[in-house]
Amino acid sequence: MKAKILTKNAIKCKKCGDIIQSKYRHNFVSCSCGACSVDGGLDYLRRCGNQSDYEEVDEYKVVEFEPKYKTGDRVRFEYFAFNEEEGVIQSVDIYPNSVDVYYDIFVDSEPKLYKHILEKYIINLID
Ligand SMILES: [Zn+2]
Repeated sequence: MKAKILTKNAIKCKKCGDIIQSKYRHNFVSCSCGACSVDGGLDYLRRCGNQSDYEEVDEYKVVEFEPKYKTGDRVRFEYFAFNEEEGVIQSVDIYPNSVDVYYDIFVDSEPKLYKHILEKYIINLID
C-alpha cells in the first residue's frame, strides 16, 4: 500500500512574500506582515488568516507499507490491555512520521468503531 506523508507544513504569504513553516506540534508561526499563520508541525495543518492571502507550499512524500491485514478482515484485537474485541477492519493507514500501521475496526456486536488500533494489538485473523 502507499500513503502520502506530510514532510513540511508551510504556506507562502501573498502580501509580504514570507514562507513560514511550522516545525513541530504547537509551533505557531506568523509571517512578518501578520496576515497569516501556520501551526501543527507534522501532526496537523492549522492556518490562520484569509485563505486568499496565502498559498500552500506543503511538501509530502509517498511511502510504501505492508499491512498484515486488509479492509474487510475480521480480527480479534486487544483493547486497554485486558479486553479483547472482535470486529471488521474498516480502514488501514499509517501514522505520519513513523511506519506504525493502524486500523479502524468496527465491532458489530456493540456496535462501535474502534479507531487507530495499532497493528501490534491485533491478535489474530478470524475466518
Ligand atoms: Zn505576510
